[in-house]
Amino acid sequence: MFYQYVIVGGGAGGVELAARLGRQFGREHGRNKVLLIDRSVFHIWKPTLHEVAVGTLNPQQEGLSYSILARRNNFSFTVGSLAGLDAAQKQLTLAAVYAEDKEHELIIPERTISFERCILAIGSGSNFFNTQGAAEHAYVLENAQDAQRFQHHLLDLFAKAAYSPQKNLNVVIIGGGATGVELAAELTEAYHEILQTFGTAQRFDIHISLIESAPRILAGLPETVSSQATVALQQKGIQVLTGRRAEEIGRDFVQTDQGRLQADVVVWAAGIKAADSNQNYGLPVNRINQFEVDAQLQTPADGVYAMGDCAACKWENDKLLPARAQVAHQQATYLTRLLKAHDAHQSFSDVFVYKDSGSLVSLGDNKGVGNLMGSLSGKSFFIEGLVAKWMYMSLHLMHHRAILGTPKTVLLAFARLAQRRVSGRLKLH
Ligand SMILES: Cc1cc2nc3c(=O)[nH]c(=O)nc-3n(C[C@H](O)[C@H](O)[C@H](O)COP(=O)(O)OP(=O)(O)OC[C@H]3O[C@@H](n4cnc5c(N)ncnc54)[C@H](O)[C@@H]3O)c2cc1C
Repeated sequence: MFYQYVIVGGGAGGVELAARLGRQFGREHGRNKVLLIDRSVFHIWKPTLHEVAVGTLNPQQEGLSYSILARRNNFSFTVGSLAGLDAAQKQLTLAAVYAEDKEHELIIPERTISFERCILAIGSGSNFFNTQGAAEHAYVLENAQDAQRFQHHLLDLFAKAAYSPQKNLNVVIIGGGATGVELAAELTEAYHEILQTFGTAQRFDIHISLIESAPRILAGLPETVSSQATVALQQKGIQVLTGRRAEEIGRDFVQTDQGRLQADVVVWAAGIKAADSNQNYGLPVNRINQFEVDAQLQTPADGVYAMGDCAACKWENDKLLPARAQVAHQQATYLTRLLKAHDAHQSFSDVFVYKDSGSLVSLGDNKGVGNLMGSLSGKSFFIEGLVAKWMYMSLHLMHHRAILGTPKTVLLAFARLAQRRVSGRLKLH
């Protein structure tokens, strides 16, 4: 099998790149030139995983089938997990696919795919920083399956707390970055929703603790954003513990450098690391397994690029670009231009320049907080409240627009509002 452009990973960056390229090459050529590979059959925008985790977003409704996206945007799609890469031969190997419920039933055998240019967009996972017990006992939010696993457990925990004599549920979230903060806020919303479905006899208390080793949460964002978010979380009853390091996680506790916390459930949201298997592809990787790329996002192997969370791309002051959907989105736009020029046999000398538009963090139902960069002044503005929340939601819509087009995005947004009105905000099954 040969495709000119093979994109591995259909997340925030990869699927946008495939859709843009497919549309540029048109109905006639797109499907023969562009192949998207993902280990999942449906796409979900990763920044919404905390909502899936608490049940305020239904992945069955939210997920978009890659096959349908491929048909609509003129690219090809195949399900598969990257297992090998021979950059010199311009060939990659996809692992065999087995049936999920019937163990060992072979569905698709191992395959090799040849390419002219390959773009690695396989994202990242959790970095446990060798914390004892973290991998065994903590939940993570790396993909839709993780988020759903947590949601099922959470429903059990809600029911258990409601029918226990103690009427108490302790949740510990480790990591005060955007993921931890958004999850903590969303969890309180889910708790209030669930209480409304219980009688007074089943009411229980929830104690959410957010642990951060840095002196403040959202340490990568301006101090105003971080202090406003801290106040908002505390008003929701969340205990914000900064300057504390989790040292060990057990079945029902988190041991920190300043004491032990009881925990019915622990979520790990403290830092990212790309897959260990990235070391096996003959490409240089950094200490968190990200592929090293140059200013045109190319690895040292000719014709092999990396983008998004799995790429170590230099930024200002010798820092690397942050692991953000915004970065993946801008890199997808840049690579579309680069590959289109390649296809037209034109030279292309532009380098990738990241434009930081600021960051927004959701603090639950009608609240957000963040900073926006002024396009003329280059200075950052603080925004909060409903406006920040709407702007946060508009980022999700922009992603949908890139892969579905404007009319379908609008239709989908209204359909989801209607669905919410009918089925309720919280997924309880
Ligand atoms: C809960 C949460 C909230 C977040 N909130 C924000 C936010 O508010 N703003 C923001 O900018 N960023 C946010 N982020 C970070 C953002 O989601 C990531 O930076 C972004 O998704 C990275 O995009 P990507 O395309 O590099 O990788 P991903 O979106 O992670 O996609 C990677 C894709 O590769 C596939 N894949 C992985 N391995 C393989 C393999 N071996 N073979 C085939 N396919 C593979 C996966 O199935 C996946 O589809 C959040 C992240 C989380 C978890």
